[in-house]
Amino acid sequence: MQRYNKIHNKIPREILLLKSLPCIYSGKCSFCNYVLDNTTNLDEIRQVNDNILNMITGEYGVIEIINSGSVFELPKFVLEAIRDKVNSLKIHTLYFEAYYGYHKRLEEMALFFPNQEIRYRIGIETFDDEFRKRVLKKPFPTSNLEDLSKKFYACCLLICIKGQTQKQILNDIHIARTHFREITINVFVNNTTAILRDEALVEWFSHDVYPLIKDEKNIEILLDNKDQGVFVQ
Ligand code: SF4
Repeated sequence: MQRYNKIHNKIPREILLLKSLPCIYSGKCSFCNYVLDNTTNLDEIRQVNDNILNMITGEYGVIEIINSGSVFELPKFVLEAIRDKVNSLKIHTLYFEAYYGYHKRLEEMALFFPNQEIRYRIGIETFDDEFRKRVLKKPFPTSNLEDLSKKFYACCLLICIKGQTQKQILNDIHIARTHFREITINVFVNNTTAILRDEALVEWFSHDVYPLIKDEKNIEILLDNKDQGVFVQ
């Protein structure tokens, strides 16, 4: 478990993994074990998060906060502690994660953090809505891409899962690059769920695709889920 890191390349920022209340979607996504970090113990949430927030230096003026769920699952006292910290350090940009189900509430954080630009990341995983619904158990429509990309600054893709194809992955990357200002490509790593990594796809992606896009400034690629230095498992 690692909860704080500085990222110096591409999109320089400090990244924090905070502890939060359970994901509103109750861990139903078939590939997700991040929710193991969730708790309803408010004292634990306060204690863990206070320690992490104290590590912020403000060096880049940009903070990314992830919380094994969506920012809306952080209790208000945590949001207030974040606000105090980022205001005192003159942080100008905040990244948060938000599940699609919150797409009508995104403005709330802009009101809560009036001094920062709020940038949301959404875990789209794939633009193949049928695959996301049937295999990943994370159903929502991506047909209105214009609206999605207005609301969410960045999107995350999950690739190299058994059942995906090269064509699907290339199409997902193409759509993400076309519509979102930044994208994160996560190569799936086997975890405690029943979803499995496809090693042949990993081999293909690593050799044929990764070298072509790895230097693009707005694309972050996690070949391993520990690559950004914060992780649960
Ligand atoms: S992927 Fe996100 S929305 Fe799905 S269960 Fe995990 S934390 Fe919740």
